[in-house]
Amino acid sequence: MSDLYAVFGNPIAHSKSPAIHAAFAVSTGQDMIYEARLAPLDGFAAAVSGFVAAGGKGANVTVPFKEDAFRLANRLSERAARAGAVNTLVFSDGEIFGDNTDGAGLVRDITHNLGYSLAGKRILLLGAGGASRGVIAPLLAELPTVLAIANRTAAKAEVLAAAFADMAPLEGGDFSRYAGCSFDVVINATSASLSGESLPLPSDLFVAGSLAYDMMYGKGETPFLHLARQQGAGRCADGLGMLVEQAAEAFLVWRGIRPDTGPVLAALRAGLTG
Ligand code: NDP
Repeated sequence: MSDLYAVFGNPIAHSKSPAIHAAFAVSTGQDMIYEARLAPLDGFAAAVSGFVAAGGKGANVTVPFKEDAFRLANRLSERAARAGAVNTLVFSDGEIFGDNTDGAGLVRDITHNLGYSLAGKRILLLGAGGASRGVIAPLLAELPTVLAIANRTAAKAEVLAAAFADMAPLEGGDFSRYAGCSFDVVINATSASLSGESLPLPSDLFVAGSLAYDMMYGKGETPFLHLARQQGAGRCADGLGMLVEQAAEAFLVWRGIRPDTGPVLAALRAGLTG
């Protein structure tokens, strides 16, 4: 019988994860099934336990359950413990192991797919929610010279900066705090693009060589990337590569094989632009 995996979320019908993992399974010759499962907003733990009882070997977790998954796991990877959120679960012998592959996915997309080294760079991270928290430690591991966090609610950025102060001196504040500063990389980890909203960014954040990266993806240019291009960012990228790379990292955790992401990313990109 094929090994069973799933992604849990609410909503979940839009998820690209089943297609991504099906392609990975074919390209690596793994005998597995990967489904999308809608969990009730107040029923994540019960949904997971039913899945485990049915033989589920592992799962991905997406909005809004990453913190529920963090609490459900009885063993955590270091990166999940740091992130305070779990997007990958492994079930074996009664144990629920929780991992977080979002940060690794972001870093691999930037450094490998986009060929942009983060070492020695000045990075500004926009947003102080779960996605932002999950990528801070992996970004710091790339040894940037500066990692600053800007958020609509300044206090949340300050709390986040303090939470990682043992790793590196971080700055946190509202968007206006960074007026007059420019960065090599500006990463949008807010959910503003989801609702089509622009961020009130200072006008001089970007220089010609800057990379603007939006974790959001979809048909057409996001409001953040539109603004970044208008303000002179040299390079713009959306979060589709991050999505594929975090999936590949989860696949590696489950199956011990890192799939080739290039063809899957190209096929998804063609679907979005076609
Ligand atoms: P959260 O709800 O945890 O955090 C949302 C953040 O966005 C907060 O910092 C919030 O600020 C800010 N925000 C929301 N609306 C606005 C607005 N109109 N103007 C300014 N700031 C705003 O979300 P997540 O951290 O989980 O996700 C953030 C984004 O990252 C989503 O778009 C998600 O789709 C994307 N993502 C993409 C992944 C990928 O693989 N490509 C993986 C994970 C996430 P405040 O604190 O002031 O409320």
